[in-house]
Amino acid sequence: MGERIDTAPCGYISLDRNGHIKEINKTLLKWMGYELDDVAGKHLEMLLSPANRLVLHSYAIPEINLYGQIEELFINMKSKNGEAIPFLLNARKLDIGGETVIDCIMLQMKKRIEYEMELREVKREMEAAYIEKEAAFAELERVNEEIEAKQEELIAINAGLVELSKTDKLTGVPNRRYLEERLYEEIEKFQRTKVPFSVLMIDIDHFKVVNDTHGHQVGDKVLAKLAHILKREMKRGDFTARYGGEEFIMILPGANALMAMDFARSLNKAILEAKWGIVGKLTISIGVAEFTKEDNDESIIEHADQALYESKENGRNQSSLYIK
Ligand code: GH3
Ligand code: MG
Ligand code: MG
Repeated sequence: MGERIDTAPCGYISLDRNGHIKEINKTLLKWMGYELDDVAGKHLEMLLSPANRLVLHSYAIPEINLYGQIEELFINMKSKNGEAIPFLLNARKLDIGGETVIDCIMLQMKKRIEYEMELREVKREMEAAYIEKEAAFAELERVNEEIEAKQEELIAINAGLVELSKTDKLTGVPNRRYLEERLYEEIEKFQRTKVPFSVLMIDIDHFKVVNDTHGHQVGDKVLAKLAHILKREMKRGDFTARYGGEEFIMILPGANALMAMDFARSLNKAILEAKWGIVGKLTISIGVAEFTKEDNDESIIEHADQALYESKENGRNQSSLYIK
């Protein structure tokens, strides 16, 4: 063997037809940890683990006998100290002077295998990261849905609160705040359409006596019942609110002064005819004012209040119209 083959950067081994080692280069000896004397003339089996001996006999030798060569056979050799060293092996059968020889070239695969393992590890990590990412996305979606549900809940709660803030607790009818909102709307509509509307201010006659005679709780019940009757008597589109104390205000869209007065008188009658239990008789006084183009949200209430004062002055249980 020439010097260059002896020290080439690959293993070289030459076998006889039975697999005995005829020649082996220094490079391979060094890799395997053997001296030339340890292996010369020995069967190649001595450099293989039992599993790889099986590969040799069941695959490599039949292959070489059939096709005269082997390409890229992956095989594990066993070094002197028992370490498995992976090799890629190319072999070729030759006839030299009537004698069969098998030349083998062997390249170490250690680095390549390490590299492949690294690749496999990276792939596994990437798959794991991908699964984690999917899970994170699913979690994010769940959290988003939860937030949306909570927001809807909040909107519903807010709507409920707005409704509550516009309602008078004792009587269940809109409160003064809601009334003001509604009055603005009605004034705005009047300015746009010139369709008339009127306002009624309603006050219980001698309500103090009810409280003083029967107690505050009975007084409360009377207020609630009155609100109920007002709501029952009003027409579609009319609006009833508790203005404060025992005073209520009604807005009658579309009603001029005469129509509003008619309706007010019908209310006087309805309250007078209603049953008030231990309270006995109950009457109300009403002030009526029609909104004019000179009016605003304050003046219309003032006018209704002035008309109410007149009803009180003239003996209560009646309705009066504000006249300029
Ligand atoms: P008038 O005919 O002049 O209107 O006499 P009045 O007694 O009805 O009027 P006054 O303003 O002197 O008294 C109103 C009473 O209404 C006094 C107050 O205690 C009572 N009141 C106001 N708010 C409530 C309430 O929420 N519940 C009860 N029970 N009474 C109330
Ligand atoms: Mg009053
Ligand atoms: Mg009163």
